[in-house]
Amino acid sequence: RFDKDYGQHILKNPGISDAIVEKAYLKPTDVVLEVGPGTGNITVRALEKAKKVIAVELDPRMGAEVTKRVQGTPLAKKLEVILGDVIKMPELPPCDALISNTPYQISSPLIFKMLAMKNPPRVAVLMFQREFAKRLVAKPGDSLYSRLSVNVNFWATCKHIMKVGKQNFRPPPKVESDVVRIEPLIGSARPNIAFEEFDGLLRIVFNRKNKTLRASFAPKEVLSLCERNYKVYCSINNIPIDESIVEEAAGEDTAAMDVDMDVDGDDEAGGDGGLGNDDDDDDDDMPTFFKELGAVDEEAKTPSRNPKTKVAAVVRAKIDKVLAGTDLADKRARMCDQNDFLKLLIAFHAEGIHFS
Ligand code: SAM
Repeated sequence: RFDKDYGQHILKNPGISDAIVEKAYLKPTDVVLEVGPGTGNITVRALEKAKKVIAVELDPRMGAEVTKRVQGTPLAKKLEVILGDVIKMPELPPCDALISNTPYQISSPLIFKMLAMKNPPRVAVLMFQREFAKRLVAKPGDSLYSRLSVNVNFWATCKHIMKVGKQNFRPPPKVESDVVRIEPLIGSARPNIAFEEFDGLLRIVFNRKNKTLRASFAPKEVLSLCERNYKVYCSINNIPIDESIVEEAAGEDTAAMDVDMDVDGDDEAGGDGGLGNDDDDDDDDMPTFFKELGAVDEEAKTPSRNPKTKVAAVVRAKIDKVLAGTDLADKRARMCDQNDFLKLLIAFHAEGIHFS
């Protein structure tokens, strides 16, 4: 009856549905977005507390169930069911709170979608598989630290709320679950930079989080992306391309600048030879991202130390300047904290280098 492909694991313990809604501290004026209402166990409780619940459900059978469940009750007029894939919606509907017993396939894209909102909800109470929840609270140096961890803790605060055993679901999933509360920073507390810029930088450095930042910026595909964006930036702002930086660099004795065919930037034994993405796979779209950049497996072995165009040389020199100036060239993404990334982004912006 339940469809595994849709991640359907229905909560059969009412205490947990209660707790999820409770931990959102809903107000009677709140519009709640629920992703995947299923048969409506969480939905009915949210409807009792909030002004309105918008429930987005992929499976039309489930959409019909939840509608039927409140039919003829005063809750019915507060419920709006939208049938479809929440991830394919261009934007999440505006809401004060987001709640979900999250279908595990969309854990990562759902969080990214929420964090990217200009006006995110005040609070999100979300249930995830335990391994995924651990990534959300991972700190620099932890093995689960990733692009997701940095983004969540940069754009929001994230707290573990409770553990939920698999016996609380029908059918039981293979793994245990956790409920987390995420409170996005809103208004003036939200960092005043574009989500796509910060995330764009993280995509580059977390593609190989165990490598040095110098190595992350070595591949020619990364240079091409920066070059493309730099040209757009210069043309939009009517800025002539500053070639003096190339001449300056050429005049210096910058051994570090034109070394390293060892773009791994390290000699660690047991590395992957620079091939492959060593990030944890919460970044589902990472391979696509690098494919879009035209990356091939050899990319890490073909650094653009001899840029083909003048603009590329300018951009390469700017990248080297930023890495040296921030003192981060030899640091690895897995050890950087959010302030390191922010410092790096600001320094890149000061040089006109953008990531989105
Ligand atoms: N909320 C219910 C509960 O706790 O008992 C059901 C939760 S079940 C884990 C996940 C629900 O999300 C299912 O009803 C499934 O059909 C729905 N779903 C799966 N993928 C979805 C998507 N991309 N967009 C919207 N709903 C989705």
